[in-house]
Amino acid sequence: MRFYSTRDKSRKLFTLAEAAFAGLAPDGGLFVPEHIPQADMSRVRQLADISYADMSAYLAALIFDDVPQATIDDAVRKAYDFDINFHWFDGRKAALELFHGPTFAFKDFGARFMGQMTGRLNTTDGLTILTATSGDTGSAVAGGFYNVPGVDVVILYPDGKVSPLQQAQMTTLGGNIHPLKVRGNFDDCQRLVKAMFNDADLRSRKRITSANSINLLRWIPQSFYYFYAYCLWAEGHSQAPDVVVPSGNYGNITAGMLAARMGMPVRRFVAASNANDVVPEFLVTGDYRPRASVRTLANAMDVGAPSNFERMMWLYGDVDNLRREVVGFSATDAEILAAIREIEEKYGYISDPHSAVGYLAARHYDIDGYWLSTASAAKFGEVIEQATGHWPDIPEALQKRMDAPCVYTMMDASDADLKDYLLSL
Ligand SMILES: *Cc1c(COP(=O)(O)O)cnc(C)c1O
Repeated sequence: MRFYSTRDKSRKLFTLAEAAFAGLAPDGGLFVPEHIPQADMSRVRQLADISYADMSAYLAALIFDDVPQATIDDAVRKAYDFDINFHWFDGRKAALELFHGPTFAFKDFGARFMGQMTGRLNTTDGLTILTATSGDTGSAVAGGFYNVPGVDVVILYPDGKVSPLQQAQMTTLGGNIHPLKVRGNFDDCQRLVKAMFNDADLRSRKRITSANSINLLRWIPQSFYYFYAYCLWAEGHSQAPDVVVPSGNYGNITAGMLAARMGMPVRRFVAASNANDVVPEFLVTGDYRPRASVRTLANAMDVGAPSNFERMMWLYGDVDNLRREVVGFSATDAEILAAIREIEEKYGYISDPHSAVGYLAARHYDIDGYWLSTASAAKFGEVIEQATGHWPDIPEALQKRMDAPCVYTMMDASDADLKDYLLSL
């Protein structure tokens, strides 16, 4: 399988390694597969019965068909050694809990697969992943690439701008993970990273690549859990499910749409957003108006110009096709807080703010199906306390990380300093 850019009418093809190490296509578009393979759903159900990893190995091989099966098998086994399950709210509605991985959020599914596959595609020694983060991406990437042989990870984050928990997730691993705390803001971090990618001298001396969320090695494996969820659903239901996806950059939901194209039954998708409602608005008006993001309590969804919109249009062609399969929903902060309270009172369950948007959309459309629960409530203690008056339980593994000493390098927002640091690794 080769890949091409969503912006390239001539469809110039790239190998998996080229596309994965480039991240974004040279023309600024997003990589997509040259064709969409069909999954044999009875095979998927058999394999899902065995394990998530077995099912994923089959699906991954359909897309990454020039990677040896043994390589894929080994990668998915290492990546997917944690649980995934439904929490049923009643016979018709469930939350798909995607937060039982090491960083307690669904991004582990993409980041760990990417880490394992990158390690195996990288045949020459010495690859440095360079990434700027405002918090969540850094923890997922650090977790995903931790101990991957031949790969160093350098993460830039702004001093004083990430939560103690996010900092702990990036700075307590050590080994091949190198956190840099930058005297500056997130924009400085991004500018520094860009400067390194534009530095021809550095690039001739060091192999660097990014691990941002649009990378196809992060995007494609997110389609696998939609298949798995369908298998769980189909055990007790003959109708295809409604699938609600709390969305920000729209990588998650477009991976679900890819799964649907590969043959996974779905009745409809609900694109659920916070106040950053460009896509729900687009579904109603047909006008796409990307804009600056606004801050909300579900801050991992604070995206005003979602990158994966291009993949969505690649999959559907135009807004009319999109409307046949997708409806939108958006929630205010006040509604999110009220939902967290309601979920605790009615169901004795603590939901994180992003998953609460999913719950609200599921309630609004009275779905038969499930919403994706994208993070553990333990990661959003302040919001939970604001909603319910008490702090959520913190899992032992997370508490341990918070108690471990943070190890990082302090750095000025200076191109020269960062370049020296990278060359010294
Ligand atoms: C990243 C993230 C989202 C949004 O996912 P997209 O793929 O960007 O739409 C939702 N919830 C949580 C907890 C996240 O970390």
